[in-house]
Amino acid sequence: MEQIQALRGTRDILPEEVTYWQQLESVARQILAQANYQEIRTPIFEQTALFERGIGEATDVVGKEMYSFTDRGDRAITLRPEGTAGVVRAAIENKLQTAGMQRLWYTGPMFRYERPQAGRQRQFHQLGVEVLGSGSPRADVEVIALATQILQRLDLKTLRLELNSVGTKTDRQYYRQALVDYLTPHQAELDADSQDRLTRNPLRILDSKDKRTQEIAAAAPSILDYLGDDSRAHFEAVQGLLTDLGIAYQLNPRLVRGLDYYTHTAFEMISEDLGAQATVCGGGRYDKLAEELGGPETPAIGWAMGLERLILLLQKSQPAPVAELDFYVVSRGDRAEAQALVLAQKLRYQGFRVELDLSGSAFGKQFKRADRSGAVACLILGDGEAERQTVNLKWLNTGEQEELTQSNLIENSEPIRQRILSAANSSPRNL
Ligand code: ATP
Ligand code: MG
Repeated sequence: MEQIQALRGTRDILPEEVTYWQQLESVARQILAQANYQEIRTPIFEQTALFERGIGEATDVVGKEMYSFTDRGDRAITLRPEGTAGVVRAAIENKLQTAGMQRLWYTGPMFRYERPQAGRQRQFHQLGVEVLGSGSPRADVEVIALATQILQRLDLKTLRLELNSVGTKTDRQYYRQALVDYLTPHQAELDADSQDRLTRNPLRILDSKDKRTQEIAAAAPSILDYLGDDSRAHFEAVQGLLTDLGIAYQLNPRLVRGLDYYTHTAFEMISEDLGAQATVCGGGRYDKLAEELGGPETPAIGWAMGLERLILLLQKSQPAPVAELDFYVVSRGDRAEAQALVLAQKLRYQGFRVELDLSGSAFGKQFKRADRSGAVACLILGDGEAERQTVNLKWLNTGEQEELTQSNLIENSEPIRQRILSAANSSPRNL
């Protein structure tokens, strides 16, 4: 029969790679908990209107990349292409703001119909934070500092922080005119999308991935020259606080982000080691989004990291985290096999990590698997041990063996636990 394969732009994350994902998630979870960010989980699909209003119809994400469909009840539905719109919708709908400022984080799959390549998929994963209810530049810097801390803890060093301000809507109206005036004489040289955007959303031309358009955009007027006094003060405060924290940044006045709801600060973290898909984290302030979605005025800032790109970096820079196992249990013969199953389960109740060999093959083969398992010790049960209700414990680092009664191992497990700890520390396990 014809084999069914995963869809283009999707991929399986196999157990060996999952260890990297777990490492990444646990580092992020820990760092965000230290700053009292709370996890939020929102639906993977939402009304299409949420993204049209929250992201903007003139963006690539909404205009070209959404997975949208009509369900059996004739509703217009979209698989979420990003996390912010859903989180803000959830905050408004559940009136989270009545309890004060919200510091939220999320992780999960996102969906965009894009041309798949390394670090660019149709189902990909993001981890993001959103701070709702603070317009302070300190909030901008807090979230940037947390992203920096997460990336540092993962030992990802060659990252560059690029920073910009896109000001307020009013600032952008002045800038927009200046930009259009500059770009119009070059209109014919721009890529087709950018020509189209010249009237609809000229700022987004700065974000174009087309080479010639980028060359033209490089000489465009800078948005930083069009910021009003308040925007300038906010941006200067952000830069001052970043400097206080020792976080280096580069100004990039062409960094406008792909999404329309951003105000003031915009930033990206870019890796030197990823080739074309180099941005691992993107974020900014979006003070107008909550109102756009029918909620109260809510200044807000957040970022999202692309986890596939981070995993690619982790895989390049460090060996896979190893599975940790205390005991590998081998047994042969009906009685021994039954006792081994019971013993393994009782040891798990005691908190040990135990793998039971279910093969029924010769001891020699089972021992080989024990050696490869990474376990600290092997527990052996044959006919003799079953008869005596004992078990042979073999320390895999030294080869030393001892026979214990099964009941003693279960009821008086503390000394063994201590020995496992010191054996595991003295010889790093290799798989
Ligand atoms: P890009 O310019 O790479 O398309 P973007 O501006 O569309 O990125 P955002 O919407 O800001 O990306 O999403 C934040 C992060 O999510 C990106 O910096 C990237 O790391 C990751 N990301 C976005 N789209 C994809 C994708 N299709 N596959 C994998 N990761 C992605
Ligand atoms: Mg994109």
